[in-house]
Amino acid sequence: MILTVNDLHAGYRKLEILHGLNLHVGEGEIVSLIGANGAGKTTTLRALAGILSPSKGSIQFEGRDMGSLRADQIVKAGLVHVPQDRALFGNLNVAENLEMGAYTQPHASIKGSLDEVFDLFPILAERRAQRADTMSGGQQQMLAIGRAMMARPRCLTLDEPSVGLAPNLAHQVLAAISAIRETGVSVLVVEQNAKQALGISDRAYVIENGSIVLEGTGGDLLEDSRVRDAYLGL
Ligand code: ATP
Repeated sequence: MILTVNDLHAGYRKLEILHGLNLHVGEGEIVSLIGANGAGKTTTLRALAGILSPSKGSIQFEGRDMGSLRADQIVKAGLVHVPQDRALFGNLNVAENLEMGAYTQPHASIKGSLDEVFDLFPILAERRAQRADTMSGGQQQMLAIGRAMMARPRCLTLDEPSVGLAPNLAHQVLAAISAIRETGVSVLVVEQNAKQALGISDRAYVIENGSIVLEGTGGDLLEDSRVRDAYLGL
């Protein structure tokens, strides 16, 4: 297991949102977390990224306890988050945004990481001198994922990477996630677009009201009548 979350409780001030969440991600797996608006998906990823402090429970990453580490220490450990709002530096260009993602890395490794990101997303190489805030939504999402890859993650967490994108761009972003896994990086992805997410996932969890209520392989959940009714609109 690369990531193991046990009995995680977290929320905002006195408002507990996650009530004892359990999940794990295996080495080289793509795992998705699906659920309705407000179920606690973003809160889960924020707790994993060290943006929120858990009030109880444990987060083990490659055998190390992450629960008490700061966000930057968690990035350095290899667990890297791509937030839903992408948090790009709009007035910086593509190459500068990517270099920002490598702030935890030795300077000498930056060129190699850039080449890998440009292999994954050729459009970023073509647009390397373009300001981030002038790119399309799909290109910005690729840049946000590329910037996270610059930190040389062992596991990526992605919050709704396809939200707001036209279907063909959403498809491209999810295909890139599969390609990232091929490079040996494990992935935990939160998606509204449950059908496409389950299609690329080895396993998936369904979250309701801050707890996991179902888990299975991507294929099993695509066939599960509860998932089909509630999340796939079938
Ligand atoms: P969505 O798809 O809408 O983003 P989600 O499953 O990611 O849904 P969360 O964003 O984790 O859900 O939100 C879970 C609950 O926490 C919601 O009831 C939300 O209103 C509440 N919440 C989220 N952010 C805050 C905050 N900063 N302060 C207080 N409550 C919050």
